[in-house]
Amino acid sequence: MSARARPVRRIVIVGGGSAGWMTAAAFGRALAGQPHSIALVESEAIGTVGVGEATVPPIHEFNRYLKIDQAEFLRATHGTIKLGIAFEGWGGSDHRYFHPFGYLGVEMSGIHFHHFWLRHLAAGGDPDHGPYNLETMAAREGRFAPATRHGPVHHAVQFDAAAYARLLRSYAEDKGVVRIEGKVADVRLDPEDGFITALALDDGRTIDGDLFIDCSGFRGLLIEGALQTGYTEWSHWLPCDSAIAMPCEGTGDPAPFTRSTVREAGWQWRIPLQHRDGNGYVYSSAHLGHDEAEALLRSRLPGAPLADANRLRFVAGHRKAIWNRNCVAIGLAGGFLEPLESTSIHLIQTTIIRLLSLLPRDAIDPNVIRRFNRDALHEYAVIRDFVIAHYALANRDDTPFWRDVAAAGLPDSLAERIEAFRATGNILFEPGDLFGPTNWYAVLTGQGMRPQSWHPIADGLSDEELATRLATLRGRVAEQLAELPPHVEFLRRL
Ligand SMILES: Cc1cc2nc3c(=O)[nH]c(=O)nc-3n(C[C@H](O)[C@H](O)[C@H](O)COP(=O)(O)OP(=O)(O)OC[C@H]3O[C@@H](n4cnc5c(N)ncnc54)[C@H](O)[C@@H]3O)c2cc1C
Repeated sequence: MSARARPVRRIVIVGGGSAGWMTAAAFGRALAGQPHSIALVESEAIGTVGVGEATVPPIHEFNRYLKIDQAEFLRATHGTIKLGIAFEGWGGSDHRYFHPFGYLGVEMSGIHFHHFWLRHLAAGGDPDHGPYNLETMAAREGRFAPATRHGPVHHAVQFDAAAYARLLRSYAEDKGVVRIEGKVADVRLDPEDGFITALALDDGRTIDGDLFIDCSGFRGLLIEGALQTGYTEWSHWLPCDSAIAMPCEGTGDPAPFTRSTVREAGWQWRIPLQHRDGNGYVYSSAHLGHDEAEALLRSRLPGAPLADANRLRFVAGHRKAIWNRNCVAIGLAGGFLEPLESTSIHLIQTTIIRLLSLLPRDAIDPNVIRRFNRDALHEYAVIRDFVIAHYALANRDDTPFWRDVAAAGLPDSLAERIEAFRATGNILFEPGDLFGPTNWYAVLTGQGMRPQSWHPIADGLSDEELATRLATLRGRVAEQLAELPPHVEFLRRL
């Protein structure tokens, strides 16, 4: 495909789930006052996937870009604060660890804190690294404020995604995005180069466009249905292909974190919102029947159910290209990684920002598409490795599912990271990766790994100096913690 003059003025978004309305809101804001038209077509009869409640911290950047105030956002979406994820049973039964946001300790002598910590462990020091991370301690005590006198408290949010989509819809419509209710029945292609020229609705209307953004969910109506882009599957390493979601009444004050509990054929989430808890069982249908999974989830709900079960099917992986011709797939239409680290909404956000940063004016250039796809697929692969690490290192062999997971092996890129960490204590990551040293350290060691070594610079402090620095860091965290009100108090003040 070579570049051909194709002015991009008419932007058509298919789908009105989180992906569609996040895209519409961001494009509406970015192109306000420009000669572009933005239309979003969605079908109430088809509906949305209806799940997706936990996020990662960069969601705040997206809301800041839209100038949506945090308090307004939390009120509108019945949101709560998320300081990390409590993993229960992943490192063996009765084992629990916390994957926090924020940082473990501080960099010292130019290297990450965990190298000093590994030296401390080797000398028989107390193994609890919680007191060196404010977010872990705040989660333990159920406390939160956006910042202390010393700096920010790193956090994401847990929210009602349908309410977020409603908030963004009214935002986008205010910015001139036109919503079209209707069902896309046909996608028309240019016979010369296969670009999409128009959508035909089932009531006979047509919608012409220059750039089409496929937010149609798992079906990938444009990217797959019309353009047959192909799908890269990762189910060998991530065999869960089903989920049952069911909200229930909250019990007690909402915790400022998400829970992930190991189950016989996968894991169960619990996400506390202000007005209810979200729950779900993610499992492999090759190892557990759907009815049985639903019965198990019901029996383990912490409160009375508030709705019927929502059954979902998926395949871990992504489209072979996220941008194909004049179509870009965002959200579930582009790919899916199970919600173990709550990364799907984040991938929507980064795909929108990447597309906006490369948005063509007068020509869709194949080099731009190649760069976009390279970066987008790299991002998927890095997050995939992080998610697989939880499974691959889980200390479980008590059911056929967990034995099959243990036998599945690792992608080369993850095997390299794990080996490097085991042998040297180094965490291999690239600037811009969503998960940095604290995240990898928390998960790898939480799942039971103990590196055999650490960075030589960590030997540069005397035992006394190291003990003094650790005490100073612990003291600073304790001081900050004392400033934080209870999480419920923070929510009440909204
Ligand atoms: C079990 C599970 C748990 C999850 N948990 C999390 C989580 O905790 N955190 C997180 O970040 N993400 C999570 N996700 C992912 C998250 O739900 C999605 O990324 C997010 O909801 C975006 O979905 P979407 O907008 O791409 O698709 P959908 O919500 O499916 O929306 C598709 C839209 O396309 C429209 N459409 C489809 N076909 C047509 C047609 N022919 N004509 C017109 N319109 C059409 C539909 O009407 C709908 O509006 C989870 C996903 C699953 C499956």
